[in-house]
Amino acid sequence: MSSHAAGGCPPPTIQPRQAATNQRKPRLKASFSCVSPSGHGEIVVIEEPSLPHEYVVGWRRDRRCSRSILRLSAYDDRQSAISNALSLSCGYVPSAGRKRNRTRDAARSAVYLWEREFTGPKHLYSSIKEAVADAAVISSHFGVSPVPVALGNSRLASGSYFIPSRGIVLAASMLDRTSLIHEVAHYLVWRMGIVEPAHGPAFTAVLVVLHMLMNTGAAPEAQRLASKYSVPINYPLLDGLLAIPSRNLAA
Ligand SMILES: [Zn+2]
Repeated sequence: MSSHAAGGCPPPTIQPRQAATNQRKPRLKASFSCVSPSGHGEIVVIEEPSLPHEYVVGWRRDRRCSRSILRLSAYDDRQSAISNALSLSCGYVPSAGRKRNRTRDAARSAVYLWEREFTGPKHLYSSIKEAVADAAVISSHFGVSPVPVALGNSRLASGSYFIPSRGIVLAASMLDRTSLIHEVAHYLVWRMGIVEPAHGPAFTAVLVVLHMLMNTGAAPEAQRLASKYSVPINYPLLDGLLAIPSRNLAA
């Protein structure tokens, strides 16, 4: 899975409200959004009644990134903001200098390289229904509700992803079992309430287990190659998940 194509959203912190100590930025609700024709994310209009110019035009990578919108301009009226957003969407190119969480991205790159090497040729799905069915089988095995799986639109800027509010969205170019397993692993880590970076040791443990369960033949290589790519795996979790009565889930 290529580093630019594979998505996956960090599982949210699942803690009781009163126990949360870190102040998360509030999710900003876009009242208007348009996808950049050149594939550079989305230009959005958000309304912030607390500000003098309450209609803010901004850029985000895609709809998952509503907490990290880059503000571009602001207006007193909504129509002017939308007009500006529409004109910007045609040619806006985000600055390459914007860096996100370096630690997390470094871990993600290593995981992608590791995953790409051990997964081998992709098992392509002929339709999204096959992906939905695989996700349902895996969810059932772990006793959790089936995660919704949908096909993303062709302009999906950053590949496939999982977000709790929407489930799994597979980019059209990633309609394959390897990509599905990757996103289902994000879903299961979230369902287990594990708080760690998105591609951390729990995620890699779940990923290996899913390849075992789906009988892709990749799991032994995955464990062997983990040290080569310095990818940590949570082995106690892996063993615990394997203790769930096992069967071959592959169709
Ligand atoms: Zn991911």
